[in-house]
Amino acid sequence: MQHYDYVIVGAGFAGSVLAERLASQAGKTILLIDKRSHIGGNAYDCLNEDGILIHQYGPHIFHTNSPEVFAYLSQFTEWRPYEHRVLASVDGKLLPIPINLDTVNQLYGYSFTSEELADYFKSVGEPVEDIRTSEDVVVSQVGRDLYEKFFRGYTRKQWGVDPSQLDKMVTSRIPTRTNQDDRYFTDEFQYMPLQGYTKMFEKMVDQPCIHQLLSTDFKEVKDQLSFDELIYTGPVDEYFDYCYGKLPYRSLRFDHQTLDVADYQPVSVVNYPNDHAYTRITEYKKLTGQEHPKTSITFEYPQDEGDPYYPVPRPENAALYRRYKQLADEQPSVHFVGRLGTYRYYNMDQVVAQALTLYKKLVGIESLQEAV
Ligand code: FAD
Repeated sequence: MQHYDYVIVGAGFAGSVLAERLASQAGKTILLIDKRSHIGGNAYDCLNEDGILIHQYGPHIFHTNSPEVFAYLSQFTEWRPYEHRVLASVDGKLLPIPINLDTVNQLYGYSFTSEELADYFKSVGEPVEDIRTSEDVVVSQVGRDLYEKFFRGYTRKQWGVDPSQLDKMVTSRIPTRTNQDDRYFTDEFQYMPLQGYTKMFEKMVDQPCIHQLLSTDFKEVKDQLSFDELIYTGPVDEYFDYCYGKLPYRSLRFDHQTLDVADYQPVSVVNYPNDHAYTRITEYKKLTGQEHPKTSITFEYPQDEGDPYYPVPRPENAALYRRYKQLADEQPSVHFVGRLGTYRYYNMDQVVAQALTLYKKLVGIESLQEAV
């Protein structure tokens, strides 16, 4: 049996960044395990049977304000500049989301200026003394009608609960604008990996010191492994055999389709807050820039069962996670990292930063610049 310095469970961003750094910079031997048949975690992309690059687990758009994260990933990919824009289908119209000047003017037939829109928001916003829930955030900023049309139905579909029952962090992520800026993100670095995410991951982990063990659940093989330290990016509650109960996650079902038309919708993502069981439709060619006579789209249906995608931000779940965190902290040679390992909604760049921070700690270096 080969002995490894590190066993890393999960070949998504968290596991792959740590494997890459520890192998290439610290000369460690790594066994990288994933129960899926591929690397890349939820950011995995692949060519479908028609040769169109699709994202198997829903659209992933890279954006960050961190020069270190961007510099780090740039060692493994070239980039395609891409600014994400989303439209929402409301009252028979396709309108910009996040809500901006054009959203309100086109929805109601007004011709507000930015200043007038700011006054309008003040007049319709409902005073909320203590903003705690996702409903509080939106009704206090834009009033009840826009909340009902753009947020309430979408959030109920996405999370299976009313926004009034969800932590404010869910809708706080979406800004409200009084100008015409229709970009979904305003980060300094907004790109797509030129050849796709999977090609980037391959460049990271195809190294002699990293052995990959795919289609393998850690639970099934852990007693046969010999290693010094474990990095665990799977669900923290699963690691501890759900001893305090299950941490709730929201999942998704993806319906991937290829259509015999070159172009399907005006932007890469259209949200359906009020109609249909699905929340949004993604058209990949608009993300990747690929030219192809056909086009591939994905419908997303939120559900409770299935792969764990979104930790559900409710106070009782945070309290349950804290109990698992306490157990995790008692295991000095096991490191929990990533979205599932720390039960937190993180974007890709945040997971990369979290992984680089753990790498710094493991090898004893001070700054993030040094780590990349
Ligand atoms: P994951 O990518 O989930 O990787 C964990 C891996 O661990 C998985 O491959 C899993 O198979 C493996 N694993 C778990 N348990 C075991 C086990 N017992 N044994 C072996 N392997 C195991 N972020 C953005 O920045 N921009 C976006 O546009 C964006 N869009 C998203 C859209 C959707 C639909 C979803 C779900 C997420 C999106 N994200 C986006 C977030 C992004 O997916 C995550 O930040 C990132 O993938 C987290 O990386 P990770 O390594 O923590 O987890």
